[in-house]
Amino acid sequence: MIIQRVVLNSRPGKNGVPVAENFRLEQSTIADTIQAGQVRVKTLFLSVDPYMRCRMNEDTGSDYLQPWQLLEVADGGGIGVVEESKHDNLAEGDFVTSFTWPWQTVAILDGSLLQKLVPQLVNGRLSYFLGAAGITGLTALLGVREKGHVAVGAGQTMVVSGAAGACGSLAGQIGRLEGCSRVVGIAGTDEKCSILVQEMGFDAAINYKKGNVAEQLRELCPGGVDVYFDNVGGDISDTVISQMNQNSHIILCGQISQYNKDVPYPPPLPPDIEKIRKERNITRERFLVLNYMDKHEASILQLCQWIQEGKLKVRETMVEGLANIGAAFQSMMSGGNIGKQIVSVSK
Ligand code: NAP
Repeated sequence: MIIQRVVLNSRPGKNGVPVAENFRLEQSTIADTIQAGQVRVKTLFLSVDPYMRCRMNEDTGSDYLQPWQLLEVADGGGIGVVEESKHDNLAEGDFVTSFTWPWQTVAILDGSLLQKLVPQLVNGRLSYFLGAAGITGLTALLGVREKGHVAVGAGQTMVVSGAAGACGSLAGQIGRLEGCSRVVGIAGTDEKCSILVQEMGFDAAINYKKGNVAEQLRELCPGGVDVYFDNVGGDISDTVISQMNQNSHIILCGQISQYNKDVPYPPPLPPDIEKIRKERNITRERFLVLNYMDKHEASILQLCQWIQEGKLKVRETMVEGLANIGAAFQSMMSGGNIGKQIVSVSK
């Protein structure tokens, strides 16, 4: 059977900015028949995520991520529908997902490595299982719960960087749902800032590309910052940390501003900021959503409930067509997305 797939065409280099041309669409073939235990699936949605930047390097720098191989098909979070099954628990028409879905239109996969999805849990919005009701939502929820020390009634102020992105837009809302009394976002455009305040219930948002972030933060967080959900690192984080309170907490979710640089993860803070962090006893522990697998199932149900109740507002930036997945990745890495970046493959 003839299919389309996307391969890693070139590496950007550890210090390079990834571009759409690092990926290439090509025609390929899969077997016409499937074996016992296998399913043939049609791809519906693929996720593009910042962690994939590490997979573009020969060495990802982490033990839980494998590099993509040159001229081989890329993979990541994906959702599809079963077209044919020789697996006992899966039938034609089932919707399924995997973290290692190949970037191709149709694939033959081992049925035991797929999770069945229940579309009703997300009001039929299947792609949410790659975002708000998937690893992104888990990252936001477990980040807040495991590292945020958020307590109802404590009157805490939370700041979120990368706030209009997939994790950030959920993290701010979850911070509020879990008890923060004030939530302030930092994002890269006025449109993103307005969505955060008008749609997502943030109290305020700062466009870090305009004006003085430190001054605006001081104005918008007069009692200082108690919880900082950090998606970006770099100068923005240094500015926020300088305004954090004694015994406050950083949720070290990600450091996207450093991903095109050959630096260790997590990158050490500059000496003056590290001094502040130590003096004020600010926690900055590494957080990895995959370390909490035992909490994933219950947390997904919590996220789905909030989505159904309308308590968690979800935004997606949907790009059509497998051919555009490289461009979608490039765009997300440079701030072109609002909420979760998804590629729709079926059309
Ligand atoms: P995303 O935010 O949807 O996309 C990245 C966003 O970051 C962009 O939209 C952009 O928005 C902002 N950004 C990009 N470059 C920036 C820079 N140099 N300075 C400031 N902001 C920049 O991605 P996501 O999926 O939500 O992931 C957010 C972070 O969480 C990433 O660092 C990712 O690696 C991390 N993550 C961690 C875990 C974990 O287990 N710890 C799991 C998933 C994701 P602007 O317009 O605001 O610039």
